[in-house]
Amino acid sequence: MIDGLTFAALSGAFLGVDWTTWKVVGWLGNICFFTRFAVQWYATERRQQVVVPSAFWWLSLTGCLCLLSYACFETRNAIFIFANAFSWIPYMRNLVIHHRSRRAARSCACGLRSPVHAIYCAQCGAKLPE
Ligand SMILES: [Zn+2]
Repeated sequence: MIDGLTFAALSGAFLGVDWTTWKVVGWLGNICFFTRFAVQWYATERRQQVVVPSAFWWLSLTGCLCLLSYACFETRNAIFIFANAFSWIPYMRNLVIHHRSRRAARSCACGLRSPVHAIYCAQCGAKLPE
């Protein structure tokens, strides 16, 4: 037995929208873009300093690619395509830099990993090995 909500979802009309695969992808892109602000805000409040975690860049990249796909395959709107065609470049670059700096981080005996240029551990104050 199919209830009304299931029937509406299966027939392609849900919440008054005729859903297509690309509309779902487009909305996922919007959700990623919205969520990245919450992630960045939470990380900043938690540390009480401005922080841009790698999750922010992953959500930005995913959102950008979803919206670019939606623009290319659903709307075919040149303005929308152009708006998302190049923004993935700084997102990728920031992810590469983030990965490299994390790999180059220096370890302390207490377990905290510090930036490569740090002299002392921010957690225990010990001098980091050269
Ligand atoms: Zn330490």
